[in-house]
Amino acid sequence: MTDEPLLSVRNLKKHYPITEGILSKQVGAAKAVDGISFDIEEGETLGLVGESGCGKSTAASSIIRLEEATDGEVIFNGGGRQGRTRNQDGSHPNDITQFEDEELKAFRRDAQMIFQDPSSSLDPRMTVGSSVAEMLLVHGMTDKERRREIVEDLLERVGLEAEYYDRYPHEFSGGQKQRIALARALVLNPEFIVADEPVSALDVSIRAEILSLLNDIQEEFGLSMLFISHDMSVVREVCDRVAVMYLGEIVEIGDTEDVFSDPQHPYTEALLSAIPTPDPTLDRENIELKGTVPSPISPPSGCRFHTRCHKVIQSGEYDLEQSDWRALLTFRDKVQTGEIDPSSIRNALSGEDMDPSDVDDETVKTQLRVEFDLPETLSDRDAESTLQTAIDALAEGRIEDANEELSVFSTPCEKEEPAETDHGNGHLSSCLRNQSAAERAEPAPADD
Ligand code: ADP
Ligand code: MG
Repeated sequence: MTDEPLLSVRNLKKHYPITEGILSKQVGAAKAVDGISFDIEEGETLGLVGESGCGKSTAASSIIRLEEATDGEVIFNGGGRQGRTRNQDGSHPNDITQFEDEELKAFRRDAQMIFQDPSSSLDPRMTVGSSVAEMLLVHGMTDKERRREIVEDLLERVGLEAEYYDRYPHEFSGGQKQRIALARALVLNPEFIVADEPVSALDVSIRAEILSLLNDIQEEFGLSMLFISHDMSVVREVCDRVAVMYLGEIVEIGDTEDVFSDPQHPYTEALLSAIPTPDPTLDRENIELKGTVPSPISPPSGCRFHTRCHKVIQSGEYDLEQSDWRALLTFRDKVQTGEIDPSSIRNALSGEDMDPSDVDDETVKTQLRVEFDLPETLSDRDAESTLQTAIDALAEGRIEDANEELSVFSTPCEKEEPAETDHGNGHLSSCLRNQSAAERAEPAPADD
């Protein structure tokens, strides 16, 4: 392993235009990938992890240029840390996003992709052997006997048998098909492989086998790999380093050991908390990640995770139970977006044989607190009085008034974009809580 990155991704963006009407006027953009940066060293496996919808696949296909990036650089074999001399226009000669036909063709040999569904890379009408051998043919190997020899050898190296060459994809299980897809990815002797959720579609019982095969192959072939998964436990099996992605951005990156033993971003903590532990007595905080990833068309302001973060910062004047503060902000957001409809609560409470208007306000108010995890009373008197006024307004159907009351609750996390904090050893995170007060525009409340 040299100390030069094989791949350097710099401020990569992929925005999908959102269009409207018959003229397809662009009315916005889905910022699926919104400025990510990382290096992958030779022989290294970097994990890219995050919930579904975070932008992992978009990042992968932009890096390998199955899709055109909106902005940023992907420098492959850049020729050293300092990089090769840049062109006069400031572009980098090894920037994949700028490659023309010939360079792109060469890159397509050097970088291969494995997908979640192995069938997607196998033609059902071709024997698996010729599917793999086709790659060699396309890249100029005309000797048929030689092609067969190479493919048979490769089939054995991925744990299958040479005789399988003449069989068809439907004769194989999911795990075997993924082995064939791997052979197909390896046959041109690439330097870099992107594996997008390669075991997610497989039976749990065979996942470990395929992961260990990937580990062996990666070592044997000296490959660099970008390994994508939504599952932290899978990432731990194969990755040297891990990048945690949330809503188009990388919120934490570092050595796998460091990220797992000492996570620095609340999102990472939440993902780790979802891993089932074999030992139920193990005392680990159970963090429930509620809701889903918001739309990348209008991502939340400030820190994009603030709408779901269990550690969202309280504004200076409050010192509430953290879970109450979280519930209060979620309640505020739902009132603001109109997701809370008191009349439907009234209807639900009235049941079959009661008129909704006969449900008294007190019952509605109690129910609102129950449904939104709000306590009977908040520990802070001012906060409680504001909340009460808002809930009173809601019960009477004055949603706008409630909205206005609740708008006094705010968090620095929605106002300020977090900067990167360096925890040493290449371990970085982007969370306001990790920044010193001096670095932050708005001073933090005293930490306990
Ligand atoms: P992941 O692989 O992490 O599940 P994706 O990269 O598939 O995430 O998607 C990221 C976001 O980009 C999602 O919100 C998705 O809806 C959006 N997206 C993906 N492809 C397109 C597209 N072709 N047009 C518009 N939005 C897209
Ligand atoms: Mg995906």
